[in-house]
Amino acid sequence: MAGIELRQISKSFGDTLVLPRIGIDIRPGEFLTLVGPSGCGKSTLLRILAGLEQPDEGSVHIDGQDMTAVPPARRNLAMVFQSYALYPHLTVAQNMMTPLILRDLSARERLPVIGPLLSRGKRREIATRVHEAAETLQIEHLLGRKPGQLSGGQRQRVALGRAMVRAPKAFLMDEPLSNLDAALRVHMRAELSQLHRRLGTTFIYVTHDQTEALTMSDRMAVMKEGRILQLGTPDDIYRDPDTLDVARFIGSPR
Ligand code: ADP
Ligand code: MG
Repeated sequence: MAGIELRQISKSFGDTLVLPRIGIDIRPGEFLTLVGPSGCGKSTLLRILAGLEQPDEGSVHIDGQDMTAVPPARRNLAMVFQSYALYPHLTVAQNMMTPLILRDLSARERLPVIGPLLSRGKRREIATRVHEAAETLQIEHLLGRKPGQLSGGQRQRVALGRAMVRAPKAFLMDEPLSNLDAALRVHMRAELSQLHRRLGTTFIYVTHDQTEALTMSDRMAVMKEGRILQLGTPDDIYRDPDTLDVARFIGSPR
């Protein structure tokens, strides 16, 4: 489990200051949502945490270690993308093992045919992890299919499964449900909450949807123009918004 800290992060694109010295402390194992209107800097903050974007100032700490200069692959955080980014020509099982295989082979060994290069023990370990993740997500029956033969919700689960096999310190999700229809979105919310409880891993979840934030989070950070207006439990924020901006965005009854 990871305690993650973003300290005094600033980020500009050209002349536009997107994040003016933003800081946040994420508790080990919590489901934290970054919520706010489109363009307020949620994705940028998440990408900085993942290492996909460098901050102009400030630092990223994971378990007390400064990881600001560490590349994404070595932060051991799993980013679950909106578009799922599954390999269309590989089966579900192969999609799920890819991160483990790549981790275990040096760059020189990353050949098109990689299975035979792994020891039998390694292959068995990978198969076990894939099956465990598939069982948790109830997608065991889909392991032999290709992404093109899956529904949106199933693809979402495979993307989660691929993230799970690496046993990451935290899952980072950027609007992961926004491509799904309304009914499935509500269903997947409940599934993600359950998954979070079952795994006990830190979830950092970005959404512009206040209902999603209110229903899923342990704590939520309400953002506007690169700042955090309020950070607290959904209950606190809904019942006792600090500012009119928060009240308006959340739709509090006052
Ligand atoms: P959100 O995820 O909350 O919708 P983003 O973090 O994607 O917001 O974007 C915040 C602001 O930064 C927006 O004005 C966006 O246009 C700008 N921005 C984000 N990424 C880039 C980039 N790579 N180059 C230029 N501007 C960017
Ligand atoms: Mg975004």
